[in-house]
Amino acid sequence: MNLMVFGAPGAGKGTQAKFLIEKYDIPQISTGDILRAAIADKTDMGMEAKNFMDAGKLVPDSTIIGIIKDRLAQDDCKKGFILDGFPRTLGQAEALSELMSNMNISLDKVISLNVPDELIVGRITGRRVCSSCGASFHVDFNPSKKEDICDYCESELIIRKDDNAETVKSRLGAYHDQTAPLIDFYTKMGVMVELDGTKDVSEVTADMFTALSK
Ligand code: ADP
Ligand code: ADP
Ligand code: ZN
Repeated sequence: MNLMVFGAPGAGKGTQAKFLIEKYDIPQISTGDILRAAIADKTDMGMEAKNFMDAGKLVPDSTIIGIIKDRLAQDDCKKGFILDGFPRTLGQAEALSELMSNMNISLDKVISLNVPDELIVGRITGRRVCSSCGASFHVDFNPSKKEDICDYCESELIIRKDDNAETVKSRLGAYHDQTAPLIDFYTKMGVMVELDGTKDVSEVTADMFTALSK
């Protein structure tokens, strides 16, 4: 299975990707997680990306496409993968199509989680993420079993630097201007599945698995 989870920042992509990993035993490829790891490692790429991320802007396509090219070439992607937070521009989507066609693979489904802007701010400001595995929780809507501890790996939960009401506005702007046009792109490709992302986490998961079994 070659899958993609798609949606606005805070729509629930990472949350649902975790259930896809468990079910299909394929890796999640989150460009956001890869960029945050590069920042933690203080690599040149990380330092360049940091300014864009802190401002809620998209990191340039050339950087992102390079990351994906390297990641998809790794062995664990041979049995399939879940793209999370990539692509976010038409240029990235076109580069992905070319890359996948060169690898002789195709995209099976794009799971789009539809959540209106009014709900996004609350989701993002209440988000807590695992400092180690990147899993995502919410103080009210999806709390971890133990406070501030990750359910999956027991590491500490933290608040992302860009998860504040101010940055959310520019991230939503970038989503509507640059990313939302991809809905049309993947609908035309015949792989688009649009889900109501406002339902409870478990209901969205059930809808997603129903769509994938068809
Ligand atoms: P994304 O990866 O799309 O940015 P996340 O999966 O990190 O989004 O989810 C954003 C926030 O919303 C997190 O705090 C998460 O726990 C919470 N969340 C995810 N799905 C739902 C849902 N269906 N209902 C309510 N809150 C959710
Ligand atoms: P969210 O979905 O909650 O916005 P991500 O972790 O996917 O969070 O992304 C965090 C930030 O990393 C984005 O605001 C952007 O600056 C950068 N980023 C991640 N993926 C991409 C991408 N595919 N293209 C450009 N920038 C990206
Ligand atoms: Zn964890």
